[in-house]
Amino acid sequence: MPHTALIVGAGPAGLALAIGFAKAGLAVTLIERQEEEQIADPAFDGREIALTHASIAALKRLDAWERIAPDAIHSLAEARVFNGTSPLALSFDPGHTGAGRLGSLVSNCDIRRALYEAAREFPTIELLTGQGVKRVSTNEHEARVWLENGTDHAATLLIAADSRFSAIRGQLGIPARMNRLGKSMLVGRVAIERDHRHFATEWFDNGQTLALLPLGERQASAVVTLPDGATQRLAALNCDALSAELTRRFARRFGEMRMLTPLHLYPLTTAYARRFVAPRAALAGDAAVGMHPVTAHGFNLGLAGTERLSRLVASALRRGVDPGNSDLLRRYQREHRTVTWPLYAATNAIVGLYTDDRPPGRLARRLSFQAARFAPARKAVSRMLMQGA
Ligand SMILES: Cc1cc2nc3c(=O)[nH]c(=O)nc-3n(C[C@H](O)[C@H](O)[C@H](O)COP(=O)(O)OP(=O)(O)OC[C@H]3O[C@@H](n4cnc5c(N)ncnc54)[C@H](O)[C@@H]3O)c2cc1C
Repeated sequence: MPHTALIVGAGPAGLALAIGFAKAGLAVTLIERQEEEQIADPAFDGREIALTHASIAALKRLDAWERIAPDAIHSLAEARVFNGTSPLALSFDPGHTGAGRLGSLVSNCDIRRALYEAAREFPTIELLTGQGVKRVSTNEHEARVWLENGTDHAATLLIAADSRFSAIRGQLGIPARMNRLGKSMLVGRVAIERDHRHFATEWFDNGQTLALLPLGERQASAVVTLPDGATQRLAALNCDALSAELTRRFARRFGEMRMLTPLHLYPLTTAYARRFVAPRAALAGDAAVGMHPVTAHGFNLGLAGTERLSRLVASALRRGVDPGNSDLLRRYQREHRTVTWPLYAATNAIVGLYTDDRPPGRLARRLSFQAARFAPARKAVSRMLMQGA
């Protein structure tokens, strides 16, 4: 019997893993609740993904990068972080690495479209869309899923890539550390009056966190994080009122701002699974690690994990070894946790420190900001931003 994999969820992580497995020689059934049109031509969802150089290289290996139009790829030269109204900035740049830029910004919908197109090139990837997985069960011999339409499918290996709220993770008996932050992120494209110089800028302000991500000429993505109720009130404003409100909140740093797209609302929940594997099963993407978006690492880490798992599967198949064996899965878990846990913990610490508006919190923020201005700390963060490790 040839070895096969079932992947639940055709988000960016599920699609990337399907391609990685197919390249390794594994036949894949990819199951997605959304209709095929929605993943073939995904709607703009406000997310502009800051890709590291490592992720760009990974997307090239998956034959997806060249499917993204050059004018949809925006250079991210440097990142600057401000604390409140202080004019002092923490700058993160590529330094002497020769890379020239920190990374690139690409819309989430363009990444998903490119990965879908690349996946469609493989006859060994079967795509079942328009139906969710209702139930799964795995044991040492096989993995099996039952779809909402009543059919069932068996395979050598099952992957849950069904988002940070993964229901499959729960069915596999894997608990997760979930943290609902009571805040939401609003994201949308804006026209700006002043040049962004391809710098990403982030302000940890009292009561709000703001970011401006550079896109085309005089265009950017505005990111506003506020307590849940406040974001809903903002999202309900009409285009003119919203443009004026953003101009005010960004203190006219980029002149007048004008909304180019509706704002998209993301309630913030972080997730870290207690284990990444179960018998004949593994978690991928946000189902394993659901990062806070502030350090822009969720997809970068998810993609690195899919490469890690694909490499292990390829090596097993070359040696004629079962790709669902427990040693392989445990190795994936060990390696992926080693890389993701420090970044997950550091990101949560940054969020805790920089969004605590009580007086002791503000003092700690000011002191840590001074400390972080020293070169070694900045170099370490720049390296983290560029490589995702
Ligand atoms: C505002 C914002 C900005 C971000 N910015 C960045 C950034 O700059 N850099 C970065 O690296 N990351 C960023 N991220 C994170 C990134 O978007 C996510 O890490 C990534 O989209 C996760 O992909 P995924 O495939 O794991 O999950 P998802 O994209 O959530 O996909 C899961 C898929 O599974 C399907 N599904 C769910 N349940 C079932 C079921 N039972 N049966 C069948 N299908 C199912 C869903 O329909 C969906 O298609 C950002 C996130 C947000 C919210």
